[in-house]
Amino acid sequence: ASHAPPGGSAAGVQVLVRVRPPLPRELMFDSGVDVKQPYDIKVYNAAQEFSGRYHGAFGEDTAQAEVYERVRDCVPLALAGYNSTIFAYGQTGTGKTYTMMGDDPSMDTAAAQAAAAARPGGAGGPGIIPRAVKELFREAKAKQDAEGAAIQIVVSYMEIYNDRLHDLLQPYKASSTRDPNDVNQKRALLEVREDAKGNTYVPNLLCVKVKSYKSVYQLIAKGNRNRAVRHTEMNQASSRSHAILQLVVEQWPNGGADGTVIRSKLNFVDLAGSERWNTNASGWDGTPDLMGGERISEMTAINGSLSALGSVVAALTERRPHVPYRDSRLTHLLQDSLGGNCRTTVLATLSPSVDAFEESCSTLRFADRAS
Ligand code: ADP
Ligand code: MG
Repeated sequence: ASHAPPGGSAAGVQVLVRVRPPLPRELMFDSGVDVKQPYDIKVYNAAQEFSGRYHGAFGEDTAQAEVYERVRDCVPLALAGYNSTIFAYGQTGTGKTYTMMGDDPSMDTAAAQAAAAARPGGAGGPGIIPRAVKELFREAKAKQDAEGAAIQIVVSYMEIYNDRLHDLLQPYKASSTRDPNDVNQKRALLEVREDAKGNTYVPNLLCVKVKSYKSVYQLIAKGNRNRAVRHTEMNQASSRSHAILQLVVEQWPNGGADGTVIRSKLNFVDLAGSERWNTNASGWDGTPDLMGGERISEMTAINGSLSALGSVVAALTERRPHVPYRDSRLTHLLQDSLGGNCRTTVLATLSPSVDAFEESCSTLRFADRAS
């Protein structure tokens, strides 16, 4: 990581690290992080330290808008026909969801606006997804008006748990049968396929045409409700699954007269918590432990897909000829949106607390492999 050029590596991968402010329950711990903006981070405790250089290092007072600045080129790239993926990686509770969605993702109630205005220094507010999606609609409209191109934006929202892919926009119903034709089972389990050009697609995935940020936000909210119901029924925590919001931009240049369509994807991935579940009796977030075998397979699946992601990103950064996309459902799904001409951002999030030293080290090691 110490050789990382500012602004992103040649392979189109950039690694950003963000430290959040201490939460009330952490005020009793000393700080264990030292951020030297713009590139350097050190984490430490009384006995050890670990430091690294990344494409961007953000301290606890970094505004949401400043983080967005570093990823916003995904919007013009999407309209130019390129795919992008933004990952939030880190221990549960370090700010992945905050960075992706923010604490005011709807951006339109008067109460939310008043709350945002009351926060010191413009802190808080919408995260990357609301900002990028709003900008995408604005730019798409501008392009449509200027060039007469027909543009359509389609949204899907998926979850990967235990290396299985689920559609968050289709309500989950526990299936009473093992019949493979059972509609609930079909909905519950999706597959990743590839076309001849290596583009991936998911048969039976619900893809919704959208015309505004508001409808995207409503779909996310609906997906999150389905996610919560599913997790309650399955006795699992959302911090143990990956959530993938995908926007597909379809463009017909010249109004589609010659039938040419250009398709590009924007993927926003809120990853499962990177904490090592096996060292925790009941999980970081206090959810009750599961039974032995189930727990072990879940643990293996989380560690497996995060380490598969690490291997894929490392292979891209090091320009190795073989990139092991097929090693996990997550990397297979995103294979056409990582590497090549794609823009990939890994946004690693850290707690500022010395108490989190071990996990912070492991997050920075992951970030190192990627940068
Ligand atoms: P994760 O998704 O990684 O589990 P969250 O995004 O839910 O973590 O963040 C945990 C808590 O910390 C939330 O209460 C969130 O509002 C707060 N938080 C996270 N990052 C920041 C930040 N940069 N500034 C202020 N509060 C933050
Ligand atoms: Mg979260």
